[in-house]
Amino acid sequence: MKELVIVSGKGGTGKTSISAALAFLSPQKVLIDCDVDAANLHLVSGAIIRETHEFKAGFEPNVDENKCTSCGQCTDLCRFGAITAGVITTPFNCEGCGVCAFNCPEHAISMLEKQAGHWFLADTHLGQLIYAELGLSVENSGKLVSKVRQEGKKIAKAKKFPLMITDGPPGIGCPAIAALSGASLALAVVEPSLSSIHDLKRLVDLVAHFKIPLAVCINKSTLHRENTREIIAWCHSKAIPIMGQLPYSDAFRIAVQSGKTVLEMEDAAVIEEMTKLWHNLAKRLEVSITESNIGFFRRKLHIFQ
Ligand code: SF4
Ligand code: SF4
Repeated sequence: MKELVIVSGKGGTGKTSISAALAFLSPQKVLIDCDVDAANLHLVSGAIIRETHEFKAGFEPNVDENKCTSCGQCTDLCRFGAITAGVITTPFNCEGCGVCAFNCPEHAISMLEKQAGHWFLADTHLGQLIYAELGLSVENSGKLVSKVRQEGKKIAKAKKFPLMITDGPPGIGCPAIAALSGASLALAVVEPSLSSIHDLKRLVDLVAHFKIPLAVCINKSTLHRENTREIIAWCHSKAIPIMGQLPYSDAFRIAVQSGKTVLEMEDAAVIEEMTKLWHNLAKRLEVSITESNIGFFRRKLHIFQ
């Protein structure tokens, strides 16, 4: 099973729209959203939740009021000001270190596993989707990303799907690393803005560090031709293949608002370039495209004659 991870150095480059469109073109895949801090693939795929699962990570103190004598030792020991004489006053400050529990003279504090979020299995018009929501002020986003990947792989294995398409988290932090490690191919989505080009270079360094094959897709390529040419030249100088160049189109915005993929907006230029992108990716990943939805668009738009 191949894993295609769509990433970007920053948010807002069109990563989710592209993930959804590629999922539309590939019938035999499982789809996962690893942006656990702000998942949105379920919004553009008409997701209906089939299963909800708790995600637990880290620990939090639980005080037994019957044992606590309000001696105040925990107040003095907590470096984060989270507990005052046996009462958790600012839970978001608690790091779950367990110092209060370890030192309580009355053994009144026990450390319990913390509810850190949820992950979901949903049915969508693009196929099955796994996504997650991390709780407020909770760390462990990398761990939740790994959980989402693990569950996605289980489905792919059970259904003998050759591909898992991952809408990755933006940036180059812990969640992005967790989503990328061991992937078959990272597709970096970049737009022709100076900040996006800068972020692409940081992403390329990260991916190179983990020795993950990388390709680039330029989104909104018609918005700034000069910057697009700069991206192409830079990618060529680094031997990074460019898999697609998608034109700027209002169809992306309308698709998000309609809860559909951009392909369903019937913008011929977008459909043609997105289909080329999928062709190139499928070839690179050695995934069969004979059963994909491409034929539907061929017939409809008479492209790729
Ligand atoms: S150290 Fe233990 S007994 Fe003392 S105030 Fe804290 S919880 Fe209560
Ligand atoms: S677990 Fe650590 S951070 Fe949390 S209240 Fe106890 S001492 Fe403070």
